[in-house]
Amino acid sequence: MSKKIQAIRGMNDILPEQSATWRHLEAIVKDVLGRYGYGEIRLPIVEYTELFKRTIGEVTDIVEKEMYTFKDRNDESLTLRPEGTAGCVRAAEEHGMLYNQIQRLWYTGPMFRYEKPQKGRYRQFHQIGVETFGLQGPDIDAEVILMTANLWKALGLSSHVTLQLNSLGSNEARATYRAELVSYLEARKDQLDEDSLRRLDSNPLRVLDSKNVKTQALLEDAPSLMDFLDDDSREHFTGLTAILDNAGVTYEINPRLVRGLDYYGKTVFEWVTTSLGSQGTVCAGGRYDGLVEQLGGKATPAVGFAMGVERLVLLLETAGLTEQINSKPDFYVVGSGPEAVLFADQVRAALPRAVVQCHCGGGKFKKQMKKANDSGALVALIIGEDEIANEQVTVKYLREQRDQITISVAELATYFSALK
Ligand code: ATP
Ligand code: MG
Repeated sequence: MSKKIQAIRGMNDILPEQSATWRHLEAIVKDVLGRYGYGEIRLPIVEYTELFKRTIGEVTDIVEKEMYTFKDRNDESLTLRPEGTAGCVRAAEEHGMLYNQIQRLWYTGPMFRYEKPQKGRYRQFHQIGVETFGLQGPDIDAEVILMTANLWKALGLSSHVTLQLNSLGSNEARATYRAELVSYLEARKDQLDEDSLRRLDSNPLRVLDSKNVKTQALLEDAPSLMDFLDDDSREHFTGLTAILDNAGVTYEINPRLVRGLDYYGKTVFEWVTTSLGSQGTVCAGGRYDGLVEQLGGKATPAVGFAMGVERLVLLLETAGLTEQINSKPDFYVVGSGPEAVLFADQVRAALPRAVVQCHCGGGKFKKQMKKANDSGALVALIIGEDEIANEQVTVKYLREQRDQITISVAELATYFSALK
């Protein structure tokens, strides 16, 4: 026997039982985003490598070690997208959607990062992302955050997530802070792990994001970015928190919240949960006013975020919210031969919203009834020889104590029209 080929590590199949939860999540997200007037943009999965290097930043984990990069047959360097913002900005600029305009966009799809696979962290994972362009006030920052808060509400997840907020300030404020942080950390270099030492040279703000408990303790007394904010960023942040306060959205200001991508400034935020272990961030984003210009466009203010779909699905499962999502058939057609298949289609035509599963493959009546029961269907529709001869069907209730009845096929729709 030849060796079986398996899926690539960290790249998952999503089986029907789980995909029902995915669809439920996606449907709610689309509904909520649609109600805020956001339009969907569909983007390629592959882009020129240069796009990600220039946007995400050369000295970030993603660009340094996580990208799936390859040469195509034309010898051009291409990369499977590790995130969606870069491609979205590229597309919006390419189609002249940015200059002097306001855009509210969203996208969804797979992203690829060569990370160590574990619960909530995969090599192919999915994001639903939102990007807004052309608005510089804190009101749009508030809008996207309120939109996510409403999303958790619609999903029943509000009590499972909390909001963390920070401001990264202007480039200048960050540079001043960066120098302060470096000297603080330099003085304690012997207590830093290898990862943080590397970041200290290349991207010191990322040390703040260290998951190492010792490093976190060391950072307790480190200078705080909040104390270095420029007036504009401070005002922006106060404006944002005022709106959130008014809306009754609670948040925690976390001065150590930085993002793994270089393009953020001013507002950054994360929605986190304690239910998923260390992969607790389910949604993350912020403001990136400099990015469009960095890609050759005119300076355009922008705010966005991305949600991790796998982590949200895990959270829905952990919170016990998937039970009612998995759809079970309404009807299970018991019978054999072509009549049953044709009859099932007649039922579908008569009751357009009903889920009708037909027993295929024959077998004894008793065995078919067991399958009907196991399917979770509410009702078995039995179409045996007698029924066929009389153009009738026997209705047997599987989940409630009710007498079975035999009615004409023509009557079926009226009889069940109240069902859905
Ligand atoms: P983390 O700190 O967990 O690595 P990140 O800062 O790299 O996250 P972003 O680039 O901001 O994440 O991506 C937004 C969201 O996408 C994350 O909050 C998370 O929910 C999800 N995500 C990121 N990387 C992965 C991954 N490898 N597998 C599954 N989900 C992911
Ligand atoms: Mg990461």
